[in-house]
Formats: sequence, structure tokens, C-alpha cells
Amino acid sequence: MIDSPLLNPVHAHIQGRWVAADSARCFAVHNPATGEQLAEVPALGAAETARAIDAARHTLATPHSLVQRQHWLEDIARVLRENKEELGRIVTLEHGKPWQEGQGEVEYAAGFFAQCARQIHELAPRTLADTPRDCRWTVHYRPAGVVGLITPWNFPIGMIAKKLSAAIAADCPSVIKPSSKTPLTLIALMKLLDEHLDLPAGYVNLVTGPAGPISECLMGHPDVRVVSFTGSTGVGKRLIEQSAAEVKKLTLELGGNAPYIVFEDADLDAAADNFIGNKFRGGGQTCVCANRLYVHQAVEQAFSEKLIERVSRLKVGDGMEEGTDIGPLIDRNGFDKVHQHLRDALDQGAELIHGEPPTEPAGDGWGHFFPPVILRGVRPGMRVTREETFGPLVAMIAFDNEEDVIAQANDTEFGLAGYVFSGDLARGARVAGRLRCGHVGLNTGTGPTPEAPFGGMKESGYGREGGQEGLFEFVEVQTIPQPL
Ligand code: NAP
Repeated sequence: MIDSPLLNPVHAHIQGRWVAADSARCFAVHNPATGEQLAEVPALGAAETARAIDAARHTLATPHSLVQRQHWLEDIARVLRENKEELGRIVTLEHGKPWQEGQGEVEYAAGFFAQCARQIHELAPRTLADTPRDCRWTVHYRPAGVVGLITPWNFPIGMIAKKLSAAIAADCPSVIKPSSKTPLTLIALMKLLDEHLDLPAGYVNLVTGPAGPISECLMGHPDVRVVSFTGSTGVGKRLIEQSAAEVKKLTLELGGNAPYIVFEDADLDAAADNFIGNKFRGGGQTCVCANRLYVHQAVEQAFSEKLIERVSRLKVGDGMEEGTDIGPLIDRNGFDKVHQHLRDALDQGAELIHGEPPTEPAGDGWGHFFPPVILRGVRPGMRVTREETFGPLVAMIAFDNEEDVIAQANDTEFGLAGYVFSGDLARGARVAGRLRCGHVGLNTGTGPTPEAPFGGMKESGYGREGGQEGLFEFVEVQTIPQPL
């Protein structure tokens, strides 16, 4: 069992109180590296979720000033940074990523609160300079209402930070539903909020448990005006259907299938270094990880060699062990998907040029470590090119001209992240402009940052998180004309 001062108790949190499930039922959370049971977490349902929404709604009656909210945001950023090591450890124990990376995620999360604090003045009412119809016109950014925040397992604290920071900036009370695979980091966050901030009871609620009843309650409740969801495209589509009944606003951060394009004139060392940082973060289980690696045929051999040299240095293991670069996959399903993508590609003629993949599908139990593998000769139509692999499998595809690689890169229903490497900046910018992705790294493999907006095109979702745009996701605009 996990022993942490931030996890006492391991409970949900509603209306300022730690609570168990009405049914007293719990579910187990495991360390994916060892299979050790870390904790038993309350399995709440619809009744508790409705109480959380009710508690949240009550706080709407007392608006909080911009200055108050700015202080809260600053305090959360500070408290996260002060507890980076322990929060990072909890991230690692329940997700599997290396501890350094877990701490980096906490720093990333703190950045969103700090960024919202810096930018919150953008939400102050503004009066138009013009006075049409002999009126003074004022535009207000009102809190949209209670918001539901649903997060995935692959960034246990990073994903909620994006949402909760903007919700607090907008003065929206929230009901958070964390992934059942990684709820402990958010329980620890609630403990920190509880102990270090003076938030009104019910302003931030944490509802742990199976998605079905909790999400149905959030989607069906008239007081919940916005649901912000990060997760798979399949679930996102279901939420779109459910949102119609009450015209609920959704922010959807969904799946990706990122192309990573290396032209013949690129700095190959920089492209390879960036690829390692991009592809293997979180063990290849991030939505912005390169999923398809397009390399110009003139440099395919040279680039492959550089990649192999770098990949061979990566250490796979328990994230709490010193020197680990890649932790385990989250669970057996995650392992099976990577394994199936690999088999499908090999069966259709791709060539394994690095790595010793497991020959068998996953067994029962835990510790699903997948060593990084590199495939060459991947072709359109193989599963690795069509679906998000979510693992340390590099799928290399040779191309010979710009037009063709743009068409291939865009030949997917996803449009989250993409990357272009070229020594010709005009070409790089031209290609970036034609990729239908919300985020395009030009000679960099970097992912999102709190200072800039991030989100998807096409079936990768809508809405933006981070930057100035993200600040407006939870407000309703109200315009008030008044005679001069
Ligand atoms: P998921 O299975 O869709 O789950 C995400 C969250 O939704 C979890 O809290 C889950 O709860 C809940 N959920 C499951 N079924 C639901 C339903 N029918 N209605 C409402 N909520 C439901 O996704 P995941 O496996 O956790 O995360 C991986 C996916 O997230 C990948 O596709 C990845 O690309 C995407 N992602 C996108 C971004 C982005 O910024 N675009 C960032 C990170 C991840 P339970 O855990 O209790 O089932």
C-alpha cells in the first residue's frame, strides 16, 4: 500500500468534506510496474455526484473577485511546486513514468495555475470605446455555471491543471472525475487545497469511481453548463451526443496520431534528439507523441542509424529506479495494443531494425514493460499509421516529395499534433501551415506549454487549453448596453 502524507485519507471530497461511497464500495489502484495494490479508492455513483453538483451550485451565489481568484491560483501554483517531489512520486507510482518526469509534470501543472493568475485581468469587464445606439456597452465574462472536469490517466495532474486553473479563473465551481487508473494524485491535490487554501466548501469537488454513473449524472444535470473532457475520441463522441439534450458546452481534448516529418535538408541530429524526447515521454503514452515518423528517403539510412544509437541508450524499468527512461505500459490492454500494431506491421512487410519485442501477447498480471522498437518500411494502411499506438513503437515511413508527405500526414481523422524538421525555414513554415493539426512543432518536438493555447482539429476535439484562449473556455459572455 502507498504510504504518503498527502494520502490520508484516501477518500473522495464533496462540499469540503472527505467522503466514502454511499455503498461503501471501493476499487483498487495498482502500481503498473509491480502490480502492488497502492490503495482502495471509494467508488462513488450518481447520488454522490448529484450532491457534489449541488454543493458546487451553492457557491455560485457568492461571486469571487478577480483578485481573490488570482490569489487562489498563485497559491495553488506555489503549493504544487513546494510538494513537487511527493506529488511526482505519487504520479510515478500510479502511472509508471520515471520520477523525474513525474516531477516535471507537477511543474507543468503548476505552470497553468501561474499562467491563469498572470492573465486573469483579461476577464475583467470591458467597455466599448464606441457608443452605438446612444448607449455605453459593457462586456462581462460571467462564470458559465458548475463545470464537470473529466481527466485521463496519462497525465494524472497535468490534465486537471489545465482545466481547474481556467475554471477557477472564470469563478466556476467544479466537479472533478479522475481516471480510475490514476485517482491518487488528485486525492493528494485535494488534500493540499484543503490544507493550504481557503476555498469555499463545495468550490472544488472530487468524485472518484466508475465513469458510467458519474458521467451520466454530470451530462444529464441542468446545473452543469460545461463539461471539459480529455480522453479518447470514442468517449468524446458519446459526450457530444449526450450534450445535445441541454445544449451543454463541451471542451474536448481527444486522441491524436501525430506525424513527425524529417526532410532531407533537416539537421538530423536535432531531429533525432527531439524525436527521443517527444516519442518516449510517458513511455510513448502521450497524445502528442509522434505516431508516424516520415523520413525523406535520401536520409532514411542516416537517420535510422542516429535513431538506433540514441534508442539503444534508453533504459526500461520501474519509474522509481534511478536512470529509468521508460516505465511500463499502463496495463495489459495498453500492452496488447502495441503488440498488435507491431505484429500487424511485421505481417504486412515492415522490417524490424531495432529492439527485441516480446513475441507473445501479454500474460496476466502487471509489469508490462515494452522495450522500444523501430520499424522501417511501414506503409499506409497498417494499423500503426491509422490508430494511436500509445507505446514505444517507432513506425518509420519513407517519402520522396513534399506534396506526398503532406497528403499522407493529413490522411487521418485526427489533428492534434504534428512536427516538421527542415533546414529550409520557408518550406518548414509552408508545410506546417498545411498540416491540419492544432499544434505543429517546427524544428522542435516540444509539446504544449501553459503560455500557449493547445487543442485539436478534426476528431482530436475542440476548444483550447492554456494561453489566452484557454482562459475563456468556462465563461459566458454577457453584453450590457445602458443609455448614456
Ligand atoms: P478514456 O478511456 O477515454 O478515459 C478518459 C476519462 O474518461 C477517464 O476519467 C474515464 O474514467 C472517463 N470515461 C470513460 N468512459 C467514459 C464515458 N462513457 N463517459 C464519460 N467518461 C468516461 O481515455 P484514457 O485511456 O484515460 O486516456 C487516453 C486517451 O486520452 C488517448 O486517446 C489520448 O490521446 C487522450 N488524451 C488526449 C489529450 C489531449 O490533450 N488531446 C491529452 C491526454 C490524453 P474511468 O477511468 O473511470 O474509465
